[in-house]
Amino acid sequence: MSRMLDYPPLSLRISVTDRCQLRCVYCTPRAAGTARRSARLTFDEILRFVRAVQGRLALRKVHLTGGEPLCRPRIADLVRSLAGEGIGELALTTNGQRLTKLAPTLKRAGLRRVNVSLDSLDPQVFYTLTGGGRLADTLAGLDAALECGLGPVKLNTVVLRGYNDSEVVSLARYGLERGCHVRFLELMPIGCIRRRFARLFVSSAEVQSRLQRAFRFEPLPRAPSASSQDFRVRGDRDLEGTLGFISPESAPFCAGCTRLRLTSTGQLIACLARGTGLRVAGLLRSNAPEAMERLQEIVGALLARKQARASFGAAQPMLAVGG
Ligand code: SAM
Repeated sequence: MSRMLDYPPLSLRISVTDRCQLRCVYCTPRAAGTARRSARLTFDEILRFVRAVQGRLALRKVHLTGGEPLCRPRIADLVRSLAGEGIGELALTTNGQRLTKLAPTLKRAGLRRVNVSLDSLDPQVFYTLTGGGRLADTLAGLDAALECGLGPVKLNTVVLRGYNDSEVVSLARYGLERGCHVRFLELMPIGCIRRRFARLFVSSAEVQSRLQRAFRFEPLPRAPSASSQDFRVRGDRDLEGTLGFISPESAPFCAGCTRLRLTSTGQLIACLARGTGLRVAGLLRSNAPEAMERLQEIVGALLARKQARASFGAAQPMLAVGG
């Protein structure tokens, strides 16, 4: 009989595709290729993985990501199956471009909430930053998610000097006015952005000091596994809500991190900063009776090695790793 591992409840981030219709400057090289379709895990293989993990560990959360998860055909089918596994929190991170169409279906399939990436409110800056994205589509997608109850929505903004750092107050206002939890992310030196990182990086402290001109901040307690330091904020015209800062560079949260990533081609990654992982696709495709046991051992071994402070430098883009 399998033994439960002594580990805090785990947060699984599952990348369902390495395809994305956008080419965000900090995430995806313009000419990025994608894996062959046959290399991509099927929904059954993803479910096998989730069940194997559940056999040994408490699952706090399953988060679907990519690439762009809404580019994976029939994504709602996977959501429906995962919802049937009784996972407490089932969420998805999206660029929002296809959310208007898909939000109601995803909600009906059992998705609890979405995170929407929104880096600018200026259509031209948005287009430049995302390599061709339409701001209006993401904003409409956000509204659709809110309307059908996929909230509380977390709005994620990666702040880049010279691109969107002057917009942080307007982005915060926009999100707070819609009841979103707005989070500002520090740029990570991963993949294609590594060479320009020093020029573009803006620390959370700098973002917060810009925001303090418009809002009063009151820190909220932080769970050991939380990636974000959250604040209750109050601004003018009775605007209030919560803002958070994710600071992997200036205040790394490795010690409390309980995240484990599965890439769309079946690599298990315990640490985003390192970006390399162990291939488990073969085990997920195997009918051998010992395959699941072996997979569980690998998960346990990866988690046991997780705690040390990681330094960034992974060559794989977020597109491939699964952000
Ligand atoms: N396509 C989806 C989206 O746009 O939300 C999900 C995948 S995307 C890789 C997930 C998150 O990673 C996005 O919020 C994106 O801004 C963030 N991201 C990608 N590359 C990053 C980097 N180098 N530093 C910080 N955040 C990054």
